Amino acid sequence: MNKPIATVARTNEILKKFDLYAKKGYGQNFIIEPGIVKKIAENAQGDDECIVEIGPGIGALTEQLAQRAKQVIAFEIDDRLIDVLAYSLEEYDNVEIIHGDFLQTDFDAKLKELRKQYKKIVVCANLPYYITTPILFKIFEGKEEVDCITVMVQKEVADRFCAIKSTKDYNALSVITQYLYDVKTIMKIPRTIFNPKPNIDSAVVQFKKKVKGNCVDNEKEFFEFVKVCFKQRRKTLYNNLRELGKDTIVTKKWIEDANLNESIRAEACDLDKFIELYNLWRKS
Ligand code: SAM
Repeated sequence: MNKPIATVARTNEILKKFDLYAKKGYGQNFIIEPGIVKKIAENAQGDDECIVEIGPGIGALTEQLAQRAKQVIAFEIDDRLIDVLAYSLEEYDNVEIIHGDFLQTDFDAKLKELRKQYKKIVVCANLPYYITTPILFKIFEGKEEVDCITVMVQKEVADRFCAIKSTKDYNALSVITQYLYDVKTIMKIPRTIFNPKPNIDSAVVQFKKKVKGNCVDNEKEFFEFVKVCFKQRRKTLYNNLRELGKDTIVTKKWIEDANLNESIRAEACDLDKFIELYNLWRKS
């Protein structure tokens, strides 16, 4: 029985065997702490279900996921890693590696196909930092739903996803994400557990699909509306909203109808307030 891939010894053996170095351009930082990898897999909520991973690297997390899930589907962009993964994960026949850029794949089609077989599909990954938000928004905005998303991201990004109103990290991304998901940070990760060691700390964030109560008719339009509200952070909500083309009197009335003061900024409004403002705007 091999040692876990995430041990320093096994990682070094694999890197040496394939004469492999981490490619910065692909955001490659391999985890070398088996305890943490195990904990992430345990939190993924994909036991006996289907788990999708983006960026398996040399397979450290994939291995732990494969020990728990019925099937693991992993998307990897780096050509060099395809043979590496065939070697490092040879014991597991429940792993499918899809070679390619996740951002270019038809993820909806893949999920649709998987749904025929699995009741629950979750995502679990240590995401490449340079494209964290595009990857997550591809999943968030897809037509097919994912039940739970557990991902390691840069700590500052995790803080933005989880931020509450009137804090420095609160922005359009926080509002949009919290509209769609219950979001929480489940683990903080120090930079010391990676090879190579990045210049930043990380955190594992979990997104669980919200059972919608207070929702809007047109989500896409609502998200654009929220982005306009935050467009210039230092500007008042009133000044940002004037961009939407309604005249001054209508915009003023609209802010009054939402029981807000004209000098208020977007960062002082919580999700429910944004929904209320948006619904008033649609009617005005
Ligand atoms: N999962 C491994 C671990 O935790 O040790 C590696 C994580 S590393 C931070 C990110 C991984 O994402 C790398 O394997 C990298 O090659 C891969 N990657 C980067 N861009 C990608 C893309 N557009 N599509 C799929 N994989 C990508």
